[in-house]
Amino acid sequence: MKEIRFENVCKSYGKIEVVKDLNLTIKEGERLILLGPSGCGKSTTLRMIAGLEDVTSGSLYMDNQKVNDLPSGKRNVAMVFQNYALYPHMNVINNITYGLKVQKVPADEINRRTEAALEMLQLKEYKDRLPKDLSGGQRQRVALARAVVKQGDYFLLDEPLSNLDAQLRVSARKELVKIHETYKQTLVYVTHDQVEAMTVGDRIALMYQGRLQMVDTPDNVYHRPATIFTAKFIGSPPMNILDMDIYQDKATLANQTLQLSSDWSIYIQQIGEKELAFGIRPEHINLSKTPVQNGWKGHVKYVENHGNSYGIYIDVEGNELIAMSESKKWWPNELVYVEPRMEKIHMFNKQTTNSIGYPKSLIEE
Ligand code: ADP
Ligand code: MG
Repeated sequence: MKEIRFENVCKSYGKIEVVKDLNLTIKEGERLILLGPSGCGKSTTLRMIAGLEDVTSGSLYMDNQKVNDLPSGKRNVAMVFQNYALYPHMNVINNITYGLKVQKVPADEINRRTEAALEMLQLKEYKDRLPKDLSGGQRQRVALARAVVKQGDYFLLDEPLSNLDAQLRVSARKELVKIHETYKQTLVYVTHDQVEAMTVGDRIALMYQGRLQMVDTPDNVYHRPATIFTAKFIGSPPMNILDMDIYQDKATLANQTLQLSSDWSIYIQQIGEKELAFGIRPEHINLSKTPVQNGWKGHVKYVENHGNSYGIYIDVEGNELIAMSESKKWWPNELVYVEPRMEKIHMFNKQTTNSIGYPKSLIEE
C-alpha cells in the first residue's frame, strides 16, 4: 500500500516545535491537500515525507515501512518545489530527462515517458528552450513534467501554482487533476489557498501553528468545520463567529434575541454545553429593509464589491458581521434587518474552540 502514515510526529528546529504531534494517514492514490496559513508547518511536513527533513520524534510510515531513517533517494517520491528548482543551464527536454538518465532508465523508456509528458503539459514547442526564456507558467509546467516522468509512487507538490496569474492557475489546476487521474499516485499537495484546496482535494488537512485542525472532504470542511479556526479559514468572506448568550431555545446578541430551532435547543441541552460561540456564513444570511421574524436590527457599515455579489458589513450594536447580497441596494448607515438561516448555523465551545457537532436531523440531511 502506497500509504503515508504519521504517528505522533513532532518536528523541532532547536527549541522551536514547528510540527506538533501529527497523526495523519494519507491513503494510497488520493489527493490530500495540506492547507494552512504561511508558517504553519506545511512545507516541513511535506519535506519529512520526501526525506529532506528528519523526523524529531514519532514515526513516519510509507508503504507500511517505517521510513524515519530511510534516505530520500529510496522513497520513490517525485517532488515539485515551490520555486520550480529547474536547472538553468539545461533546456526543457534535459531538465525533464536528467533525473531519469541519472537513474539509468533505458533510453526508449525515457523517450516514451517524456513524449507523453510534453504532450500532456503542452510543452512540445518549447522543448529546446532554456528556463530563462520561458514564462512562469511554462516553467511551472516543466517542473511538473519533470516530476511526472519520474513516475514515483508519491507525488509531492509544494505550492506548485502560487506564482501563476489567476487565469493560468485555474487551467493548471485542471491539468494537475488530469495528470493525477492518469497516474493515480498518492498525492500530497501543499497550498495556502483555500480555493485550490477545495477544487483539487479529495480530502483537506488543515494546519494551524503546527497542529492539525481537521482532516476531511472539502464538503465537510466547509459545511461541518471542526474548529473555529477551520470555520474562519475556509470560505470567503469568513464565517461570522458571534459571542452570544445562548440559553435554552434562545440566542441573544446585544439584547436582541433569536429563536433557535427545536432541534438545536434540544441538542444543546442534551450535551449540556453552556459557553457557546455562534457561527453563520455570510452567504447564509438574508437581509431585509423591513423587520424580520427571527433576526436582528443593525446598520450597514460598508459595502464591498465582489463582482458577482456584494459583501455587506453590518453593525449590530457593536458586533460586526458580514452578509452576502446579490443586489447593490445597500448603502452605508442604512438600517438593515439581518436574518440568519437557522438551519445553517454552527455552534462552537468558546473555551476549546471545537465544534459541538450538529443535531442528528441536520447531519442526515
Ligand atoms: P509553511 O510551509 O506552512 O509556510 P514551514 O513548514 O516552511 O511553513 O515552516 C514552519 C515554521 O518553521 C516556520 O515558522 C519557519 O520559520 C520554521 N522553519 C522552517 N524551516 C526552518 C529551519 N531550517 N530552521 C528554523 N526554523 C525553520
Ligand atoms: Mg511552505
